Amino acid sequence: MNSFSLNGRETPFETGETILEVAEKNGVNIPSLCRLKGVEPIGNCGVCVVEADGTHVLSCSTPVHQGMKVRTQTPAIVAARKERIKALLDSGNHNCAIGSAGSKSWSTFQQTVQRSDGSAELCPAWGDCRLQDLAYEYQVSGGRAALSTRTYPRESDAPLIIRDYSRCIRCGRCVAACNEIQVNAAIHADFLSADPELMPGKAYPVAKDNCVYCGECVQACPVGALVEKKARYHYRPWKAKKIRTTCPYCGVGCQQLLHVVDDRIVKVTGVEDGSPNMGRLCVKGRFGYDFIYSEERLKTPLIRNDDGSFREATWDEALGLVVDRFKQIIRDHGPDAMAGVSCARSINEDSYQMMKFFRAVIGTNNIDHCART
Ligand code: SF4
Ligand code: SF4
Ligand code: SF4
Repeated sequence: MNSFSLNGRETPFETGETILEVAEKNGVNIPSLCRLKGVEPIGNCGVCVVEADGTHVLSCSTPVHQGMKVRTQTPAIVAARKERIKALLDSGNHNCAIGSAGSKSWSTFQQTVQRSDGSAELCPAWGDCRLQDLAYEYQVSGGRAALSTRTYPRESDAPLIIRDYSRCIRCGRCVAACNEIQVNAAIHADFLSADPELMPGKAYPVAKDNCVYCGECVQACPVGALVEKKARYHYRPWKAKKIRTTCPYCGVGCQQLLHVVDDRIVKVTGVEDGSPNMGRLCVKGRFGYDFIYSEERLKTPLIRNDDGSFREATWDEALGLVVDRFKQIIRDHGPDAMAGVSCARSINEDSYQMMKFFRAVIGTNNIDHCART
């Protein structure tokens, strides 16, 4: 059996597995900002550094070999991670992490924004950002120099997504999410090497013609560089309850997390490890939840009057009318005069019942499914 030493403990591994993968399987935490399940290791953030056989390597892209000796949390490794986190914080507008000048304590600004809520000065990702989490965990501050000397473009005119390059850490997750997972090829490959400071406002590295606004890049972004426009500044992450459900739009059955504040959905994300979508959602599943709150939704049955207008009715009256008309049609023209079209948003069980109802109760095979969603 293959085995190696992981923090002094003999640990089995499968040929080809990386240090990060084996560590994760064995409950050993190694931080990473750029790792994205389902794609080849990206290796851009540098935070997953570990010591292997006496040298520092990236655990996300280094395969384990027989007899290897790996240590994940030595003082030198912690120092290397701190340096990397600080460099990332200093690379852009990471205003949540500005430390007090000349001291290692957190700034008044940070302490204030931790208590406050809804300020436009706060990064919209505050409270839901992996870089921020790591800055706290490793007690690293930074970002002050970047704030005062750099300007970056921000794209706010897209209908559903705001791209703020001042907070992009070039991790590459959005590129892999768009091009490899969703295969939409909407983010140019040169995105990671372009200097956002030099990008003119209209030369964003996203091919808008290819973008289908699936939001996969937003879910993949570990910081506040890509955020949902509808959710931005409308709530703070810690206020949201996350409720798992099945997407109502089509029969695929994608697993969603509804982020709910005061009984209102404020954001939807895919369940990362949930089949069949493994975190992915389409534009409807991720962004199409406003209809729930539409004032135009029908709340009671309507019955059409002889003059074409509608009047409100009770469910008993409406269903009684439907039953009478169905019976009349079958009596006058036979069951094949009837046809049923099941709603594409129905769950499988409802569609099955609809099929049974038409075949076994009405007595016709005229049953189909609406393809449009
Ligand atoms: S992106 Fe993350 S680290 Fe940067 S300011 Fe926002 S919360 Fe802080
Ligand atoms: S929204 Fe979807 S298609 Fe558009 S850039 Fe992001 S991942 Fe690509
Ligand atoms: S936009 Fe977000 S996901 Fe894409 S490279 Fe920047 S930080 Fe990473």
